[in-house]
Amino acid sequence: MKKDALLSVKGLSTSFNTHDGVVRAIDGVDFEVFPGETLGLVGESGCGKSVTSLSVLRLLNPAMTRIQGQVMFDGNNLLDLSPDQMRMIRGGTISMIFQEPMTSLNPILTVGEQISESLRLHENLDRRAAREKAVQMLEMVQIPSPGVRVDQYPHKLSGGMRQRVMIAMALCCSPRLIFADEPTTALDVTIQAQILKLLNRLKKGSATSIVLITHDLGVVAQMASRVVVMYAGRIVEEAPVVPLFHDARHPYTRGLLNSVPVLNDESRNRLSEIPGIVPNLLRMPGGCSFHPRCPRAEDICRKESPSMTAFGDNRRVACWLADSKI
Ligand code: SF4
Repeated sequence: MKKDALLSVKGLSTSFNTHDGVVRAIDGVDFEVFPGETLGLVGESGCGKSVTSLSVLRLLNPAMTRIQGQVMFDGNNLLDLSPDQMRMIRGGTISMIFQEPMTSLNPILTVGEQISESLRLHENLDRRAAREKAVQMLEMVQIPSPGVRVDQYPHKLSGGMRQRVMIAMALCCSPRLIFADEPTTALDVTIQAQILKLLNRLKKGSATSIVLITHDLGVVAQMASRVVVMYAGRIVEEAPVVPLFHDARHPYTRGLLNSVPVLNDESRNRLSEIPGIVPNLLRMPGGCSFHPRCPRAEDICRKESPSMTAFGDNRRVACWLADSKI
């Protein structure tokens, strides 16, 4: 029996007012996140994956944006909550890990003060108890000498350690859902592997769900159980991770997979790239928005936009030719 979704996003659309006109950055996005799972949200830069998470968490400037749709979490539509109600959810039951910890951490507060802030707000701990828990959290994310590091400012820590602090902050109030936006992109490969291992270890045995936003399919393969692929503000394919990697049905997903290096694969002696660039959101092509770059485009693709359609078990694809062999 399928579990009830922890987060259910329906018809989410976000538009920005710009000097050049209204830009629809995401358009009718639907997805669900189930308890305990890691969902990968993937696509090239500018496809709308970060805007999706910022819209769900209501972190966009309301004066510049219009968000429509429904974001159900714990029986509430997050889009209907007041700013104060949202503040109590963010950092409490839903938390975030951002790409660049140096810009996300406050440079004038010690790491301990920053972890304690969440604990005092969401868990009602006093100053002393919050500091003690902050030390425990630093220990849990394997920061050496946590009793010393807790009183240091972010600039004293390496990039990898700052990302561990972000993870400690995200986990300190035992969230039910974490949005991790490119959590390892700014790190070198060795530290990246350590952080992924740490996230996987912390996740094991907990019911916390993760929405992992990344352009890196290697990271998705290591972490996610299901994947949602976005292109030009829309979801184009959704599938469990293994079928997606072995039998992607959307030409864009296939293009992303073909651009990932595979060691010892002699059938792939060169990487392929997806021709062209992501369309300008102010001048979206008619029909399927991927058609100018698609090697399989047919007449119908230029005229009509395919909608997301169920495909096999637990899969959805938006492509007129999803049924035919790629
Ligand atoms: Fe390509 Fe047509 Fe499928 Fe769009 S609908 S991805 S253009 S084959």
